[in-house]
Amino acid sequence: MSAQKPDASELEAKKDALIATARRCFERGLQTNAGGNLSVRLASVEAIVIKPSGVGFAECTRDNLQVAYLDGTLEPSAFKPSKDLDFHVDLYRIRPDINAIVHCHSPWATGYASAGIEIPCLTVQTIEKIGRMPLIPLSANGGPQTDVEISPVFRDASIRAAVLANHGTIGVGKTLMAAQYLAEIIEETAHIAFVRDALMAAHGKTLADLPRYGTAKEAAAAL
Ligand SMILES: [Zn+2]
Repeated sequence: MSAQKPDASELEAKKDALIATARRCFERGLQTNAGGNLSVRLASVEAIVIKPSGVGFAECTRDNLQVAYLDGTLEPSAFKPSKDLDFHVDLYRIRPDINAIVHCHSPWATGYASAGIEIPCLTVQTIEKIGRMPLIPLSANGGPQTDVEISPVFRDASIRAAVLANHGTIGVGKTLMAAQYLAEIIEETAHIAFVRDALMAAHGKTLADLPRYGTAKEAAAAL
């Protein structure tokens, strides 16, 4: 464990921000039960605050959140560390621009991922804000994705969101709210894609029938 300790007032503020974000994620139905996880980087020490295993997004408190150091050690805690701890820590190690991660098992997005279909960035907003949401397959032994599968995708600094086959989603950001917004946009986009795909199938349309479109910037540049 690190000899340095987090600044007490920063730790309290980050815990409160994480509690508020987790509650928003739960209230929007992006994560039920005790699955998923979210974390935030501390500035005062090389460490993060993260939800432990077995605690729901709506049940996070200052007392059950854990502090994990980027060297892989954990502050002593009565709670079991999350199965996702390793991939969270590794993403903070490889991407200094990431200050927060929201990982949840939101149903529309996870449905797409479980069908082996990458969620298309099909609105002008998602093209601008996200660009691409790579689909990350299960681990080689069929188990849930770990840092072995997730980190290589996020080594590309342009990647801000990804979807895990048979598992869930990952949104990263400079702040907890930015990562939470991505979790919401991923789910919203999957929902829109499902409606589009169902309507196209019902009306015998294919992607070739749809207009080509781009962002407002691209439209302005084409004038
Ligand atoms: Zn998960």
